[in-house]
Amino acid sequence: MKITSIESFVLCDKLKQSFYFSQWEYSERKICIVKVTSDTGHVGWGEGYGPAGMIKAGIEHLTPFVIGQHPLETETIWSIMYRRTMDFARSGVLVSAISAIDVALWDLKGRILELPVHILLGGKKRDTIIPYATGMYFTDDSVMSDALSKEAVHYAQLGYKGMKMKVGLDIEADIANVKTVREAIGPDIDLMIDANHAYNLREAVQLANAVEKYNIYWFEEPISPEYYDQYSELRTKTSIPIAGGECEYLRFGFQTLLKSRSVDIVQPDICASGGLSEAKRIAAIASVYGVEVIPHTWGSGIAIAAAMHFVANLDSMPGRLKSPTSYIEYDQTENGLREELTTTDMIFDNGLIVISDTPGLGFEVNEDALYKYAQSPQNGLRIEESIIVQT
Ligand code: MG
Repeated sequence: MKITSIESFVLCDKLKQSFYFSQWEYSERKICIVKVTSDTGHVGWGEGYGPAGMIKAGIEHLTPFVIGQHPLETETIWSIMYRRTMDFARSGVLVSAISAIDVALWDLKGRILELPVHILLGGKKRDTIIPYATGMYFTDDSVMSDALSKEAVHYAQLGYKGMKMKVGLDIEADIANVKTVREAIGPDIDLMIDANHAYNLREAVQLANAVEKYNIYWFEEPISPEYYDQYSELRTKTSIPIAGGECEYLRFGFQTLLKSRSVDIVQPDICASGGLSEAKRIAAIASVYGVEVIPHTWGSGIAIAAAMHFVANLDSMPGRLKSPTSYIEYDQTENGLREELTTTDMIFDNGLIVISDTPGLGFEVNEDALYKYAQSPQNGLRIEESIIVQT
């Protein structure tokens, strides 16, 4: 059994309405996905999180080292990919490229063995997980308050038990927006805030102290991810749990984050931090520190499925008779790629997602949608140009 081809695709969806967060504006959604084929005729799909064109270049760099390998040997292939790149990039987009191929290999392994990935990871430890809605980005200041409360109420009506809003524009506006959302959704829904590292320590303390009364479930990326000591100091100055890790890579990066006691909740992105193989190791390190893992998820149904299988397999932290909430991030912003690229039998029902037992990652890729978004005029790519095949 051997891997015979690796194809990568940059897909783009131009948004009807732009939105922005504390760092920059989104006017399009662009992702890199990868398809790995074995000589058995099976295929597996993966996705990388980050700049799509650079991840595609990384996948092309890694391809010759993966072709010809045994498709079930995910750990062996991960080690080969890492050794071939570690001298140049122990974080960043090359690790995202490794992640994309690794996720595709787990999907491929599941399809070959006819088992769901959560079984291959070691077992399904829960039947359902709880998605929290990610949305409430910034749009037009003049209607912000009204738009925010409408959006929040919409998520509540859909049955979400938790939701995450953006902060990081300026502290006074953030306080007003958090108040608006909390009043709109009432006291029983978990509310997270995410600054995308917009603030320094002084500002983060100021915002945290001002919004504590709104019962914030966690404060995500308050400070730039380099400042581990400032994260740990912030934790001593607020009762709000601090979350972070979406800009961290590999078990080594997460070891630094955890050792510095920077976060209460650690958020590896499966499609950036090293794939499912490395996410298992990151979770093992987090368990040593007794820190909860709730992955960051942003992208197509491939990334969402990878995160779902990972969370299905996660140990509860801590273990107890009545298990704590197992959250998964569920992006609700406009994204045709997420809606159209994959179909899955995972069911969202009354605020819960029932984990799929379908082999692999449990989705099918709609190749019509793949060609549509690869060929879209705004992408500027022809499908022929976006495929790399080596056999
Ligand atoms: Mg975030």
